[in-house]
Amino acid sequence: MNENLLKQINKSNKLTLKKHGDTISLERAIFLSWWCDKGDCAFCYMSTQKNKIKDPIKAKRKIQNIYAEAEMCSRLNWNIEFLSGGNKSIKTAQIKEIATNIQKITGKGVWLNIGTTQDLDKYGSEIEGITGAVETVNPQLHKQICPSKNIEDITNMLEKAEDLGFKKSITIILGLGETIEDLDYLIDYIKTNKIDRIIFYSLNPHKETIYAETSQPASLYYSEVVTNIRLKFPDIEIICGTWIDNLANIGILILSGANGITKFPLFKMFGTKYGKRVEQEILYANRKIKGTFTDKTKLGPEYSKISPEYDKFIKRYVKESLKNKY
Ligand code: SF4
Repeated sequence: MNENLLKQINKSNKLTLKKHGDTISLERAIFLSWWCDKGDCAFCYMSTQKNKIKDPIKAKRKIQNIYAEAEMCSRLNWNIEFLSGGNKSIKTAQIKEIATNIQKITGKGVWLNIGTTQDLDKYGSEIEGITGAVETVNPQLHKQICPSKNIEDITNMLEKAEDLGFKKSITIILGLGETIEDLDYLIDYIKTNKIDRIIFYSLNPHKETIYAETSQPASLYYSEVVTNIRLKFPDIEIICGTWIDNLANIGILILSGANGITKFPLFKMFGTKYGKRVEQEILYANRKIKGTFTDKTKLGPEYSKISPEYDKFIKRYVKESLKNKY
């Protein structure tokens, strides 16, 4: 390994421990809908669905199921990374209502990742922060990959979020064709827009997209990006996404500066050897885990403690997770 990178990781690890402590969160995005009015970002699963979904209303998830998922996150002590919905897939009033109810379930304000909206002044204390799905900050690459998602619109939304007192976060996908030199764009974007939280994902090569046969980024490339961001921005919160086929990334990403990890199929992995592996990766990085990926006693009863309307979904989540073993 590049000796310099090893030194940087070591420095970054010490800095993260000093600034953020030794606990790693398990994060879960809760989806509100499977539809997006843009639907043409080259890597995105939604782009493969655009012509298949004729009625966006039908692509919305059942509200009771969304609340049941939030209740399960609360039982397992997982953070809700954000509420996610494609651009213009759900009306502002409904998002606000969902966020308000989820805040009652978890006791915490909710982050949003709902495309570009200028309706931010309709939200209040139920919202902790706003996420801009930037994906890549290299301007040429961004135009090519996200032809309808203008980066200036995202930046304007984040500016408005700041004016209204919300925290700001961005998502970045690694492996889209950017290079390590593009880090300069990213550093500049974080600095200029005073970003509080950054969420990295590693490319998930979806079938039916131009990335279907593309490799996911190398673990040490991912690590180099995260290390650089941690060393430049000691206070920023960093969440790193990795996929079930890349769990070995987790340890090195934590040492590089991650505060939380994400992008797991929670109920499929809970209590399996994969969930166990996530926990081992965290523990071997010398960290504690906020929440659990294996402790079945935390799953709780097969009914909702909040509303009988969620029972059916809670039962399904608990049963599915109880069946798993390692
Ligand atoms: S705007 Fe977001 S949800 Fe819509 S296609 Fe692009 S990445 Fe996917």
